[in-house]
Formats: sequence, structure tokens, C-alpha cells
Amino acid sequence: MFTEYMNHYPSLRDNYKKLLNMINDYDEVIILRHVRPDPDAIGSQLGLKEILKSIFPNKKVTALGESETSLEFLGQMDTATSVEKPLLIVVDTAGAGRIDGDISLGDKIVKIDHHPNHEPYGDLNIVETGVSSTSELIYLLADAWGFDNDYINDVSARLLYSGIVGDTGRFLFNNTSTLTLKVASELRKFDFDAAKDMMDMNRQSIEQFRFKGYLINNFKMTDKGVLYVWVPASVLSEYGLTSNEASMHVNIYREIDEAGIWFMAVEEETDIRVRLRSKETVINDVAESFGGGGHPLASGVSIASQDELQLLVEALDRKL
Ligand code: AMP
Repeated sequence: MFTEYMNHYPSLRDNYKKLLNMINDYDEVIILRHVRPDPDAIGSQLGLKEILKSIFPNKKVTALGESETSLEFLGQMDTATSVEKPLLIVVDTAGAGRIDGDISLGDKIVKIDHHPNHEPYGDLNIVETGVSSTSELIYLLADAWGFDNDYINDVSARLLYSGIVGDTGRFLFNNTSTLTLKVASELRKFDFDAAKDMMDMNRQSIEQFRFKGYLINNFKMTDKGVLYVWVPASVLSEYGLTSNEASMHVNIYREIDEAGIWFMAVEEETDIRVRLRSKETVINDVAESFGGGGHPLASGVSIASQDELQLLVEALDRKL
């Protein structure tokens, strides 16, 4: 149905058949994704698993990784079993260092992703930066393999839809294309409670809600409009939040007129997790220069010290 789009997505066009043939050669497939999963990581991982199960009912397809409590409503991870050299498919993960799992266990590795492909760690790499999400790309793969949603069912549709909603900020961000909306519309033909899932995705405890008060009262901003907030471990324990729960509020600053770029820096056990966002200015080059990465307007980096945090503020300030 969407084959007319193929010429815009050469990596998909050139590799979708190769991937199907490759999967065909293995009895076991393991699907991995990145650490600290978000809805797109889980949605594309479990969505692909469901699609492969419907195409290849006799193959063993397993999704592995740490479970993320706030996303367990979408589905569960499998438990690892010892397998002899399976095919490993890694979704939504730009760099091998951020894979939640051991890729040396795989006979061959396939990378399926929508981040800039600086590190093509797969034996086969299907990477398209023009799609909103890896979930959108998985839908396009299934569409290329089949005909008219042949291989999509209620479960995979729900997972892929949730991934798309997650990475587009509910169709708000500029990665939402006409194709994204068409794919979402196809997925909504299936039977799942999208409104309930969206509520579940944004549910928060009273502590998380109160924590927004901290975020509102404690940010700093440079004259040019780099806004940032420092969240020490003591504040996490004061509000009883994990780093992940605290970090989900990064977009609270999006609506501030004067803020062109903003980030949250959360103190973790061994380093500081920075979630970085921007309205228009490209920031993933700065994230990369600090050892991180991501999309042009949504990136992340792990840094070691407060001094480095200050250098990050200065580097971002120079971009405005
Ligand atoms: P997040 O803020 O965790 O939603 O991440 C935004 C984007 O930046 C995602 O595409 C991540 O894959 C990427 N990203 C986040 N943290 C890192 C990191 N430490 N290194 C490389 N990329 C990252």
C-alpha cells in the first residue's frame, strides 16, 4: 500500500527483501532495543516480535531487555533462554554501546533504526532518519513484506501506534509527516483502546506531579535562551522518584517562549543524565561532541561532572 514511498526510503527499499530472507534462514530470532526504553523502543521491539510471529508461526521470536515499570502496560519482556547463534535484530538504537543486551550472542546482527547512522553496527542496516519513529519504520517493513496490513494484528497495531505517539509527542513534533499520519490512520483501523493507552502513557503519581513544582522553581536560563535544570539525587529521594520518572518531564519547558534549547540534568549513581531538547536549533552535534547523540531536536548525553555541565551550557549557548 505504501510502496509509493519507497523511493524516499532507500535503505528500506534496498533491504526489506534481504531482511525477510535473512530471518527465513534462522529458527530463532532475538529482538533487542536500547537501555532506558521509551514507548518507541518497546513498541517497535514488541510490535516487530508480533509481526514476525504472524509471518513465521514456527520460529522462536524473543524480545529481551530490562523491563521498564512505567511501560509494562504495553507488554512484557521475555526471559532469556540459551540459544545457539540466533539472528539478532536491534531496534531504535543508534550506537552499539546503548544496546540493552549482548550482541556477541548473535550469529548475524540487523540494525533497524531512525537515528543518524554514525555507527552501522549491523551486518544489515535498515536506517531511515526521515521517519518519525522506529515503530513507523517497522510498519513500513511489514507493509513492504505483505499486502494491505496482512501481517499486522490488534496487538502489533497497538504497539506500533504507541511508539509513534511517543516519539512524535502525540503528533506534535516536526517529525510528524503526512506518511506518519497515514500509517497511524492504518493502525487505528485495528481494535485497541488508543485513548486508554495514551492516558496510561502519561499517568503520573502525586509525587511526580509535585515534582513539577521543583522544575518550575529551579531552572536557570542564559540570556540567549538555553534553559536548564539540575536535579540532584537528594531531590529525587525527596520526591521518591527514579531518574526515569523525573526525566519524563523534560518537555515541561517547551512552552516557554524565551527558551530555544532546554535540558534536564539528573544525578544518577555514576554520572549525570542529560535529556536535551530544542525548538529549531540543531543540537545533536553538540550532544555528540559530549559523547552522546540523538535526533537534531531531541538528544541525550551522559556527563561526568558539574564542570562539564557548565561547558555544555556554554556550547549550547553558542548555537543560539
Ligand atoms: P531521551 O532524552 O532519552 O528521550 O533521548 C533523546 C534521543 O537522544 C534519543 O534518540 C536517544 O536515543 C538519544 N540519546 C539519549 N541519551 C543518549 C546518550 N547518552 N548517548 C547517545 N544518544 C542518546
